[in-house]
Amino acid sequence: MRTPIIAGNWKMHKNVGEAVELARQLDEMVADSAVEVVICAPFTSLSSLSALGVNKVKIGAQNMYFAEAGAFTGEISATMLEDVGCEYVILGHSERREIFKEDDELINKKVLKALEVGLKPILCVGETLAQRKAGETENVVVSQTTKGLAGVSPELIEQVVIAYEPIWAIGTGETSNGKDANEVIASIRQTLAKLFGDEQAQKVRIQYGGSVKPGNIAEFMEQPEIDGALVGGASLNVKDFVGIVKY
Ligand code: PEP
Repeated sequence: MRTPIIAGNWKMHKNVGEAVELARQLDEMVADSAVEVVICAPFTSLSSLSALGVNKVKIGAQNMYFAEAGAFTGEISATMLEDVGCEYVILGHSERREIFKEDDELINKKVLKALEVGLKPILCVGETLAQRKAGETENVVVSQTTKGLAGVSPELIEQVVIAYEPIWAIGTGETSNGKDANEVIASIRQTLAKLFGDEQAQKVRIQYGGSVKPGNIAEFMEQPEIDGALVGGASLNVKDFVGIVKY
């Protein structure tokens, strides 16, 4: 039985004071939820969120670099994230792939480094609208999953969360529907079974992401293959985020 996981991706929003206040309210309001709740905040807020001592809510980052340390101006290492109390890190988000030109090879190095230091990667995969229209959705997500997870050992795969995020549904108000998202996520799980064995594949949590709101979360959560959501815009507002966690 997989524990559902709902993670908020705050992107480049919230100063430290706003982040701490939102986390404090959220932590109280979801305290009795059976769902694992994560907030992936900007780097600048991570130590303050750790110091806040949230009980229920777990802390994640939105990116990292794969090197241990060195001359990488502007980058943050996995060890630094672990040091400030992060448990999760989003890797390969479509905005990183598109705007910052991250490819599968780089993302894979980050996944391996995160696992090495005990961080849990939330690996994002998903197709563009053009790829979907061309019938390439399954090929794209299978390829991103396979390349992103190259070299991960079967013992560690259950530490990874995968977020299936169709790019055309991110921040657009468009969503996939539960049935379609479930089919794509089933193909991701079949890929995991080929790579790591069926027993391990069954342990991996796979989220849906893309314009999830309190009003549509249930449609996704009732699908057998969908184990939670990665939430952007709606995670910036406590009422909406709580509404999603308490679907
Ligand atoms: C995201 O950024 O991962 C995301 C799913 O955003 P939104 O919920 O705003 O579509």
